[in-house]
Amino acid sequence: MSEGLKKEAVQFAEQQYRLYGDIILPQQKQVKKRDIVVLKDNSSPTLFEAVPKDSWFRRQIQEIEEEWVEAKSLDALEQGICNCRKCLLWEGRDKFVFGTGNPHADVVVIGEAPGADENKQGKPFVGDAGKLLTKILAAINFSRDDVYICNILKSRPPGNRRPEHSEVETCIPYLYKQLDLLKPQFILALGLTAAKALLGTTKAMKDLRGSVHDWHGISMIVTYHPAALLRNPYWKRSTWEDVRLLRKLYDSWNAEKS
Ligand code: SF4
Repeated sequence: MSEGLKKEAVQFAEQQYRLYGDIILPQQKQVKKRDIVVLKDNSSPTLFEAVPKDSWFRRQIQEIEEEWVEAKSLDALEQGICNCRKCLLWEGRDKFVFGTGNPHADVVVIGEAPGADENKQGKPFVGDAGKLLTKILAAINFSRDDVYICNILKSRPPGNRRPEHSEVETCIPYLYKQLDLLKPQFILALGLTAAKALLGTTKAMKDLRGSVHDWHGISMIVTYHPAALLRNPYWKRSTWEDVRLLRKLYDSWNAEKS
């Protein structure tokens, strides 16, 4: 084995140990486009097809007669909605958690809602689950600044309880506007709440992960929320497979467009 290959193998093993401790993960086979299961409705475009991704998102918010709908930048949008009191969650809010990261990102990571640390700092994924998310992204060679990170809800549910359906319905137009401005190529949905809110499905995580969902022209991967991984390390292996699939898709897309 050459010195270069040895170095790569050692780096891979170290990265695996940092992420997953003693869990040994097999090398995943190269993902080819023909291997990708694309779940789509008939009106959706083909994976990687150039589409006007903003049209669906615009349609979701066009009836809302509020100033933020016309925001031309993420900063303007945040300013326009940061004092929102549309649902009761504003009452427990210390800080509004809009989102952070690269405003030109091709990958948007979407979680459920802010927790205690996020509520204090006004940033998504900054607690223990956030640290694990940083490691998961690093394992597929993304830094937090390469992607954009946000949640379905912008205010913290009390005691980190699961968001209620009405709260999701009230808050999700803000996310649609964020996506309309970001125009990502890929979404990584973390946890069942985010996946269900976006896909409008009642399926279980086992039926949603491991595939590519074509969501209004955006390729979406669903995987476990890092907070769930902290409670159940058994799911880390599946998460690793999911994020590696995301990376392979991203690399294929980059290769196709260049
Ligand atoms: S959760 Fe969303 S809808 Fe509810 S108060 Fe916060 S920003 Fe407004």
